[in-house]
Amino acid sequence: MNNLFEKLENEQELKQLAKEMAKLDVAYHQKDAPLVSDAKYDEMKKRAADIEARFPDLALKKKVGAAPAAGFGKVTHAVPMLSLGNVFSEEEVQDFLAKIKRFLGLNETIEIFAEPKIDGLSFSARYENGVFVQAATRGDGATGEDITRNLATIEQLPKIITGKNVPEILEIRGEVYMSLNDFLALNNRQEKAKAKVFANPRNAAAGSLRQLDSKITAERKLSLFAYTWGEIKGIEWKTQQDFFSCIEKWGFPVNHKSCLCKSVKEIMDFYNELSEQRASLPYDIDGIVYKVNRIDLQNRLGFISKAPRWATAHKFPAEQVQTVIEKIDIQVGRTGVLTPVAHLKPVTVGGVVVSRATLHNEDEIKRKDIREGDTVIIQRAGDVIPQVVKVIKHDSSKEYEFPKNCPVCGSLATRKEGEAAYRCSGGLSCPAQAIERLKHFVSRNAFDIEGMGTKNIEFFYEKKWIENPADIFNLKEHEADLKSEKGWQELSVNNLFDSIDDKREISLERFVFALGIRQVGQATARLLAQHYGSFENWQIAMNKAKDKESRTYEDLINIESVGALVADDLISFFAEKHNQNILDRLAHYLKITDFEKPTAGSELSGKTIVFTGTLTSMTRNEAKARALSMGAKVAGSVSKKTDIVVTGENAGSKAQKAQELGIKILTEDEFQKIK
Ligand code: AMP
Repeated sequence: MNNLFEKLENEQELKQLAKEMAKLDVAYHQKDAPLVSDAKYDEMKKRAADIEARFPDLALKKKVGAAPAAGFGKVTHAVPMLSLGNVFSEEEVQDFLAKIKRFLGLNETIEIFAEPKIDGLSFSARYENGVFVQAATRGDGATGEDITRNLATIEQLPKIITGKNVPEILEIRGEVYMSLNDFLALNNRQEKAKAKVFANPRNAAAGSLRQLDSKITAERKLSLFAYTWGEIKGIEWKTQQDFFSCIEKWGFPVNHKSCLCKSVKEIMDFYNELSEQRASLPYDIDGIVYKVNRIDLQNRLGFISKAPRWATAHKFPAEQVQTVIEKIDIQVGRTGVLTPVAHLKPVTVGGVVVSRATLHNEDEIKRKDIREGDTVIIQRAGDVIPQVVKVIKHDSSKEYEFPKNCPVCGSLATRKEGEAAYRCSGGLSCPAQAIERLKHFVSRNAFDIEGMGTKNIEFFYEKKWIENPADIFNLKEHEADLKSEKGWQELSVNNLFDSIDDKREISLERFVFALGIRQVGQATARLLAQHYGSFENWQIAMNKAKDKESRTYEDLINIESVGALVADDLISFFAEKHNQNILDRLAHYLKITDFEKPTAGSELSGKTIVFTGTLTSMTRNEAKARALSMGAKVAGSVSKKTDIVVTGENAGSKAQKAQELGIKILTEDEFQKIK
């Protein structure tokens, strides 16, 4: 009981501290007028950290509460805001274009609209009948933060659009940035006021746009460029270039450096020209974005995972700096891969403090002869994990020796021929793998269980209460023991059980992804869920697929992006008795909901479709992608399970078999017309 009182008291204190510190933060960061000394502030921070360390669940509640406290509502994007793929060299540009041509089956010139890639913060601004009504950040792509009031303070943003063809709905997307001059002036002011100076214009723009108080945003000079659209109704454009001229007439700033390129040479000339101009531009750019100019072709090309197939970013080379490798550490991943990580003397690269860099694998370390104590050059490109480029000077005469045993469980680490990675052979007995698998299982895109952070997972694992994913849903068995642990009271334990119970219903695709099967990422998990529809079907099929002569196996490797290697990993996962046992237990504890067809309205939704013969208006890949996007499953061979066969020119035995089986046959034209 004493402990409960103590906790309540601490909770009160923490709330008070959070409130006071929020006030101090506003004064310090936003009003440039600190209210207390740094030492006093640090003391408060330390006290809060102490309480949080003692009662981790209190810290959690504070964090969860942080989003609404920041005052930003959530906005669900009607059309997701995606990211872009990357290219880094002329060959990769060539490859990007070649893939597009192959996908479309076109041999003619594909015009590319090249635009400077502004290094700022993306936004989406919505207009209804020409009136600006809402703005949002990109967020995680699906949901962003409501920044309507803040964006409205930017002079360059049209608040009303008038003129010809003003659409009913128009979402304009682009980048908010701070010009270099405005950035320097802001930092000057900040410095004078002894307030926080920003590391780079991007941070300054982000910090200014995401302000609680839009008056502060208004004081910071922000600019913007518009470059694409989200939801639209009542308007269409033929090309990206047309889009630019149209919105420019409505008053949106577009980047005039952008240009139309008709060949790789023209693209590279533009890239080189812009690289030279980069340093003297009044704003930061971190590359060039290439977009297929024709919008009908963009629509045909569609998307791969989270990025459009019709656009890519050509990034400028990464910034490089010198530092020292203090130590090389080995991390063990959930599939047992041993990854070497360099612990660095902290340095700032591109405005971010970096203290670790990946060393990839043994070959990479040998090739570059990287040793502990080395002085090295590291680089960081965009959000990519920092890498060691080269060694400048050795400190030790001893080459680094890659460990032959798992640093966590001591089992032998082996490297298969043809593979770059060492894997711990400890399998299920290796705690590092088990913990990583659990972390993956509860992670945001998987089960997303609140209150199951790394610290708690490690704690439960150590106690042997949770050793595999199924144990999570059986944690109640240890309720009494848990409540007697330090820092775990009635309330926090109940909160944890509630958040576990919240996740007893889960979609099949999340479930498949959560299992952390080798090579089965989110995209493949979705395809598997789509293909098999229900957990039961999937489980039966994976067990049957062990027989490589079986139809089921053929069906599996026929799924887009699965193939024999991924199939092998799936089959081995199911062949493992321990995994079967966990799956059975999970199926008992959970309700795994069937795959929801994405476009229930489409005629193709849920149908199994086979393409045969030479298609003339589109390539096979394009046809497959189209069918998948309408919720169909694509198979390679005709069977009783096939619903539709699409026949191109010279369709042979498959078309005949379809006829024999009485399966619906569509011509290519008929397929094209399906919406
Ligand atoms: P990344 O964040 O590296 O995946 O790059 C994608 C981001 O580049 C987009 O989300 C935009 O914020 C940004 N971007 C900057 N300029 C452009 C542009 N002209 N066209 C498209 N995206 C751009």
